[in-house]
Amino acid sequence: MTVMLTQNLTANDALTPAAAATHRPTEGSVHSWDLSTGVDGPGTRFVTFLSGCPLTCLYCHNPDTWRMRNGKRTSADAIVAEAAKYTRFIEAAGGGATISGGEPLLQPVFAGELLHRFKHELGLHTALDTSGFLGVRATDALLRDVDLVLLDIKSWDRDTYKKVTGRPLRPTLDFAHRLADLGKNVWVRFVLVPGLTDDPANIEGVAAFAASLGNVSRVDVLPFHKLGEAKWEALGKTFTLHDTPSPGPEQVAAAKAIFEAHGLTAV
Ligand code: SF4
Repeated sequence: MTVMLTQNLTANDALTPAAAATHRPTEGSVHSWDLSTGVDGPGTRFVTFLSGCPLTCLYCHNPDTWRMRNGKRTSADAIVAEAAKYTRFIEAAGGGATISGGEPLLQPVFAGELLHRFKHELGLHTALDTSGFLGVRATDALLRDVDLVLLDIKSWDRDTYKKVTGRPLRPTLDFAHRLADLGKNVWVRFVLVPGLTDDPANIEGVAAFAASLGNVSRVDVLPFHKLGEAKWEALGKTFTLHDTPSPGPEQVAAAKAIFEAHGLTAV
């Protein structure tokens, strides 16, 4: 379920006394926000999509988030005030708040303030959805305000990772190790793309690595789809996976089985 919300708040709207006491006029570049269930962490969640991403994933279904300058300058106050409207509903649904993108760590101060206020002002469970490529920008203070990291490991094979994302894999692995050292709860996310990431050896590599960390409580195997293709066309970009099929149920089940063979919970 995804419910589109309006974005017509201003920076000075509806500050709670607690917000006023800690008020800092942080702004960031924001694409949108939604309520979603089932894909951005546990339960129903208030998901904020920040603009800007250093990766260029071939299957990205939100290429309209890639450029920070295309987002809308929005205050943290406005977003927290919007999320506050749904706090009771979210808590009843066992959910929380997720910072996504784009790549939220491209705006670490803004992301950090949102996470802090979601957690301490609204009392929500917090999740950070990231590729990990900019993990060095996440301060320990930011990570203290994160209950769950949704970490995309898009490939184990270095060349495939570079082909898929345009960037090297190493920073993501380094960030994964740091999260493990901190004992941070992680869900690994892996997009299964026929002919690109579906080599069993590639999946095996991600699975063995994830299992070795000790802090990965779940793996989401996400079947490739082409729902974002129209956005690529609208942006004048070539969607090179136009002829790539989505994986069938058997392929998805086989990929999950590889993760499960390493003792991981794959969904
Ligand atoms: S990291 Fe996410 S937002 Fe960035 S290009 Fe990849 S899929 Fe798109």
